[in-house]
Amino acid sequence: MKKELLLIGLCILAQSCGKAQPVKKENVAKVGNQKCPVSGQPVHSAHVYIHNGKEYGLCNNGDCASHFSQNPDKYAEIAEAIAKE
Ligand SMILES: [Zn+2]
Repeated sequence: MKKELLLIGLCILAQSCGKAQPVKKENVAKVGNQKCPVSGQPVHSAHVYIHNGKEYGLCNNGDCASHFSQNPDKYAEIAEAIAKE
C-alpha cells in the first residue's frame, strides 16, 4: 500500500516537473539569425530567446530579451527575415 502511494507521488512530481518546462530543448528549432532582431548587432551564442518553439539568437545586450518579450511576434518576424538574408 505504501509503495503504491509512493509511486503515485513520483508520477505527480514527474508531471509537475514537465510543466515547469513548457518548451523542451530538443523540440526547439533554431532560427539561425546571425544578427540580433532588436539591435542589429551580431548574435551571441549565450543569448537566445525561445518563442513558439523557436530559438532566436540575440546579441550580448541584456536589454534585447526584454524588448523581445514585450513584442515577440514583431521581433520573431524580423529575426526570420534576417535568417533568410
Ligand atoms: Zn540585441
